[in-house]
Amino acid sequence: MDTPIDAHAIRDGVANRRFSATDVCRTTLDRIAALNPALNAFRAVAADTALARAAEIDARPDAAGRPLLGVPIALKDNLCTKGMTTTASSRILEGYTPPYDATVVTRLEAAGAIVIGKTNCDEFAMGSSTENSAFGPTRNPWATDRTPGGSSGGSAAAVAAGMVPLALGSDTGGSIRQPAALCGVVGFKPSYGRVSRYGLLAFASSLDQIDPLATSVRDAALVMHVIAGHDGCDSTSANTPVPDFERTLEESRDLAGVRIGVPRHLFREGVDAEVMAAFDAAIEVTRAQGAEIVDVVLEHSPEAIPVYYVIATAEASANLARYDGVRYGNRADATTLGDMYDRTRGGGFGREVKRRIILGTYVLSAGYYDAYYRKAQQVRTLIRRDYDRALASVDVVAMPTSPTAAFALGERTDDPVQMYLSDVFTVGANLAGLPAVSVPCGLTRARLPIGLQFTGRAMEDATVLRVADGYERATTWSKERPPHLTSETLR
Ligand code: GLN
Repeated sequence: MDTPIDAHAIRDGVANRRFSATDVCRTTLDRIAALNPALNAFRAVAADTALARAAEIDARPDAAGRPLLGVPIALKDNLCTKGMTTTASSRILEGYTPPYDATVVTRLEAAGAIVIGKTNCDEFAMGSSTENSAFGPTRNPWATDRTPGGSSGGSAAAVAAGMVPLALGSDTGGSIRQPAALCGVVGFKPSYGRVSRYGLLAFASSLDQIDPLATSVRDAALVMHVIAGHDGCDSTSANTPVPDFERTLEESRDLAGVRIGVPRHLFREGVDAEVMAAFDAAIEVTRAQGAEIVDVVLEHSPEAIPVYYVIATAEASANLARYDGVRYGNRADATTLGDMYDRTRGGGFGREVKRRIILGTYVLSAGYYDAYYRKAQQVRTLIRRDYDRALASVDVVAMPTSPTAAFALGERTDDPVQMYLSDVFTVGANLAGLPAVSVPCGLTRARLPIGLQFTGRAMEDATVLRVADGYERATTWSKERPPHLTSETLR
C-alpha cells in the first residue's frame, strides 16, 4: 500500500476494512526503517507493541467508530510513555522509563491511535534546531544539510517525510510552529490550559503546551478533538467545554466576514525577502476568500524575546532542579552527596541546558529578581494586553511563523542570540497564552517550505483552526512534499 499520510483516510480505511491496522503499521515501520538512518527523526521505535496493538484493533470489529482507529502517531521524547523510554533527548535521562503515561497518550490510545515511537528533540525542548539533542541533530527532509527547526524537530521531520501521518510535540516558545514551518507541515499550539500537560517533562510551566503536527489543518483538528479537555491531574487544565473542532471547520468554507490583523510594523527588519513575499501573497489569498485585512499594532512585541528568555529560563531552573541523581534518571558515582550532584548534573546536562539553568537562577536571585524577573513579568502583561486590544477588533493576527526558511545545520550553533531570534514571531502566543497555528504558505526558490501563522483569542482555538483551514482550502501548499525521499536517494 502507499505511504499513509492522511489520518482521516487511514481511520476510514481501517474502519471500513479496506486495509488493516496491521498493514498500516507495517508500512509505517518500513518507511521509518528506510528513512530514519538519514534523518534521525526517531529516538526509539516501538515496533512490537505497535504491531501488537494493531493486531488487537484488527481482531475487534467493534472498535470501528473510534476517531483515530489504527492511525500511527509519533510522540516527542519529552512525553511520558509507560514502559517506553522517555529521555527529552538528554543524557541525564538516557534509558529512563516512566511508570505512567501522559494524559494525552492515554487519550490517544483510547481513541484507537497506535504509538509508533519517540522523536528526537532539543534537550528538554530548549532550542530551535534540534541540534541541542544529546543524540545528534535531526535533518530536514527537504534538504538534509538543513535543520528541521526545533525543538520538536524530530516530530516535524517524521510527518514531513511521510513516516507518520501525525505526531505530538510541545510548544513553549514556538517549538511546534517553527519546525512545522521549516518542514512544510501544519502545527497547532492550543490555548494555555486547553490540553493537559500531565506527563509532559516540564520546561517552563507557564508557557508549555502539548500540540499536534499533521499534514493538514483537518488532521490537526482531529487530534485536538481527542486530546483537548479538562484533566484533574493538571491543575492548569481549563475546565471549559471543548467544541467540536472538526464540525467548526465544516461550518464555513471560505473566510467571508473574518477579520485578520497584520502587525506590519514588526516586519521591518530581519525577515527574509522570500518569506515576506510568501506572506504577502498569502494575505492576498485570504482577502480573495472574503477576509477583511486590518493593520494592528503589537507595541511591546519587540520585547517578547528578551522577556521570554528571562521567564522561560527562570521556570526551567526551578523545573530542572528535580534531576539531581536521586529521584529520576542517571546518577554518577561519587563519595559525597555534593560530588554526586555535581557529577550527575555536570555530566548529564548539555551546554544550552546549563546556560539556561545558570541564567534562570541568576534572574531569580536576591538583588536581581526585581531588575529582571519581576520586570519581565510586567512586560509580559503589556504584551498580553497588546494582543487583547488587537484581538478585540480582529478575529486573528497573521504573521510569518519564522523569519527565515530552514537554516543550515551548524549555522547558528555558535550564536545563541541568532538561534533565539528564530522565535521572534512565535513566543508572543505563549507569553499571552493564546492559540496559534502554522500552515504552509509557500516554497523558496531553493524549495524550502515557508509557514504562515494565525494567532487567536484565548480558548478560541476553533476560530484559529477554521481560518487556517479556509486558507488551506484555497491553496495547495500543504500538499507539497519533500523531493526524492526514498531509502535509495537518502543513502
Ligand atoms: N526555541 C525556543 C527555546 O529555545 C522555544 C522552545 C520551545 O518552544 N520548547 O526556548
